[in-house]
Amino acid sequence: MPADPVSSAASGFAALFVTLLLLSLVVKTSLMRRQIRHVLARREQVPQAFAESITLASHQRAADYTAARMRLAMSEIAVSALFVLLLTLGGGLQAIHDAWSAAFAPGGIAHGVALLATLGVLGWFIDLPFVLIKTFVIEKRFGFNRMTPRLFAADTAREAALAAAIGLPLLAVLLWLTAAMGSLWWLWVWAFWLSFNLLVMLIWPTFIAPLFNRFTPLADEALKARVEGLLARCGFQSKGLFVMDGSRRSAHGNAYFTGFGASKRIVFFDTLLDKLNADEVEAVLAHELGHFRHRHILKRLAVLAPASLALLALLGWLIEQPWFFSGLGSAATDTATALALFFLVLPAFTFPLAPVLSYWSRVHEFEADAYAAQQTRAADLVAALVKLYRDNASTLTPDPLYSRFFDSHPPAALRVARLQSLQP
Ligand SMILES: [Zn+2]
Repeated sequence: MPADPVSSAASGFAALFVTLLLLSLVVKTSLMRRQIRHVLARREQVPQAFAESITLASHQRAADYTAARMRLAMSEIAVSALFVLLLTLGGGLQAIHDAWSAAFAPGGIAHGVALLATLGVLGWFIDLPFVLIKTFVIEKRFGFNRMTPRLFAADTAREAALAAAIGLPLLAVLLWLTAAMGSLWWLWVWAFWLSFNLLVMLIWPTFIAPLFNRFTPLADEALKARVEGLLARCGFQSKGLFVMDGSRRSAHGNAYFTGFGASKRIVFFDTLLDKLNADEVEAVLAHELGHFRHRHILKRLAVLAPASLALLALLGWLIEQPWFFSGLGSAATDTATALALFFLVLPAFTFPLAPVLSYWSRVHEFEADAYAAQQTRAADLVAALVKLYRDNASTLTPDPLYSRFFDSHPPAALRVARLQSLQP
């Protein structure tokens, strides 16, 4: 009997997908195991470079914190791989599709929105135990969690309302574009998606972030004068310096830039200002300005925008291929099903890119550090980093291979050594 070309393409594609999914699971899990082994093996001694600034107790706390988070992450990636397999080859997506067909016409916009929203809700439930364990067990055990169950529930309700208010109409527009714009729909979807992202960046600081945190103008006049001096030196225009009540949820400290154009502002977590002195705050801010000066966000966008266009064009082609649907356990061939399948299986195909993106990010961190060393003193940034490593219980001894694959920031020892070499 001659093989049916569609079904043999489908089983070939299914085999490729499962192989890559399992490969990514094996690679990630073995890197995480290496990380745990490497960190715990170095638990009894503070690295030479940090011997004077970090106590053995802090170092051991960082090792235990790293190992605890790694173990949780390992079970999380295994569960999420299982979830993807159940939805695709296990026929889960098709079952959701059939269930909604009782209420809405299959292939229509309402049906598609219901299908994709159900997937979102299911994904949220699968993720929930891990979020709860992370927040209320691990973060709590290491003294970072400030979140109460009540605040967690309030956050969840606000997030769900926001997702429904923005996400459902967004899905409806996307599905409408794919139906109304002919064979080049993916170009329209891309343009719409890009504009939506820019809009979110524009309104985030003023409309969305304040739903979750309180932002107050930086009141410390001495620090404000220092920061404004630095901004003037670096030629950076900002619409304000704000302090965010990050301490409501967590003891971890941070600082960031947000928005663009007229909504651009600088936000310090209150937890960061509590820990660092004025010199150190200035150095951390100079590092952030380094990202701005080197146009790192624009460079990232310049790569991600064409990459997402290429992915959408690929989806535009896959949607015409019967083997794509049947290979992934779906009899339905509508656009919403295609979108769901595509984004469920995509990570298995793109995981080899992770180390490339991590490498690129680490290059940017080194560039921002070098800029900070020019504008302020490298020693101040080193002092700030050491305090942050200590207080955030970040490991000083990551496994080199793990770090190369996953870490967006260079390992502590390399980063500090590089900064010290820049010290005049
Ligand atoms: Zn940075």
